[in-house]
Amino acid sequence: MWSSPAVPAASPAPDDLDVVVAGAGPAGLSAAAACAAAGLRTALVAPGTRPWPATYSLWADELDAAAGPLGLDPATAATRYSPTVVRTAAGGERRLSRGYARLRNDVVHAALLDRFRASGGEVVTGRVAGMLADGGREVAVLADGGRLTARVVLDARGGGPGSAQQRAWGEVVAGPVPDLVPPGGALLMDWAALADPALPPAFLYGLPLDDGTVLLEATSLAARPPLPLAGLRDRLAALLAAHGLRPAGDAERVAIPLDGAARGAGAGTRLGAAAGLVHPATGYSVASSLRLGPRVAAALAGGSDPHRVVRAARPRATAALLGLGLEVLLPLDAAATDAFFAAFFTLPERTWAAYLDVGSPPAAIAAAMARVFAALPPAARARLLRDVARTAGRRVRIRRG
Ligand SMILES: Cc1cc2nc3c(=O)[nH]c(=O)nc-3n(C[C@H](O)[C@H](O)[C@H](O)COP(=O)(O)OP(=O)(O)OC[C@H]3O[C@@H](n4cnc5c(N)ncnc54)[C@H](O)[C@@H]3O)c2cc1C
Repeated sequence: MWSSPAVPAASPAPDDLDVVVAGAGPAGLSAAAACAAAGLRTALVAPGTRPWPATYSLWADELDAAAGPLGLDPATAATRYSPTVVRTAAGGERRLSRGYARLRNDVVHAALLDRFRASGGEVVTGRVAGMLADGGREVAVLADGGRLTARVVLDARGGGPGSAQQRAWGEVVAGPVPDLVPPGGALLMDWAALADPALPPAFLYGLPLDDGTVLLEATSLAARPPLPLAGLRDRLAALLAAHGLRPAGDAERVAIPLDGAARGAGAGTRLGAAAGLVHPATGYSVASSLRLGPRVAAALAGGSDPHRVVRAARPRATAALLGLGLEVLLPLDAAATDAFFAAFFTLPERTWAAYLDVGSPPAAIAAAMARVFAALPPAARARLLRDVARTAGRRVRIRRG
């Protein structure tokens, strides 16, 4: 392992790198492992290499698609759930046929790190303070003054704060809790469990964990300004008390910027949340990061421009439409949000699945938007139109002003 003080500022070594990756979250580690496995001389700069602490979920088909190119065994990389359940505030239940999965962080993290090291990758413990272009090469300037020069620096240092966030407060309880979470299944959204017309919209999310406990999260899908975590904690505590449940582990605090701008322009190629590749309605980015790493590595190994691959991972028009979708969601009260999702999940799976993927073509996003609009009850449709008009008006005023 290199430690950065051994690489003094202005030192020419190690300057024969192909790639420096800054950050070892899902985006950085998957890209680093893929680059090293593609034969690129790769250094990964990170403050530490402990397994990711957050609960990371994705759709099972996304995991299956991402696993092979990363050398992951899809059978051990995640716990899979079936059915995937959505409940409306009125108590209706829909069982989605699309399988859901939770990454086994320890397994995936270890597999990626092993692949990285076994392919000759080197971990540099430290922080990247900045990135420079230097005579056709790129330089990662480390916080301690060290420098690493490479053909390309990949910036996977995570996203900025954003003004709208998804937030959640999670507790682990002894399982099973079949009246809340279907055994073996995933509770994607339950708008009834935390319903309170006097409070901002929040839903219950729940997953059985591998040790027999169940993770329950009171979740605010999207709010600007973000909902205080303490309010979500209290709503979850009231639900647990009503069901005779007690927290049995550490709480999980979730705060995901939904409209965080990509890190500033300049040298380096941004990946993952640093590139703004977060879905503006769900906050998800892990699946797209796992998918992107090997594509970036293939581009670099083939001598092509990695920026093009990153741009293709979230077409500009798709980002604009999804951004509009977020603005439409933000002002909805609990009843309108409930109506929206009740309609959303009546769409054919391929239609709503396309909307949940930042890599979808804009036509697929627009088609999902049109179909969910058509599926809404008339009152919810009228209300949505008012909100869209207000949002569009605000955007025009911002542009003019
Ligand atoms: C609790 C929680 C749960 C989430 N659950 C899901 C989920 O279920 N599904 C999903 O798709 N998304 C989820 N997200 C959202 C999102 O996918 C994650 O935030 C994800 O971690 C983003 O990955 P990333 O690699 O782009 O950035 P990060 O995971 O933020 O990784 C950035 C890394 O860079 C390191 N770093 C920071 N600064 C420097 C520096 N100067 N130099 C070097 N390294 C640096 C950090 O230590 C960190 O390890 C969740 C987020 C949270 C907080």
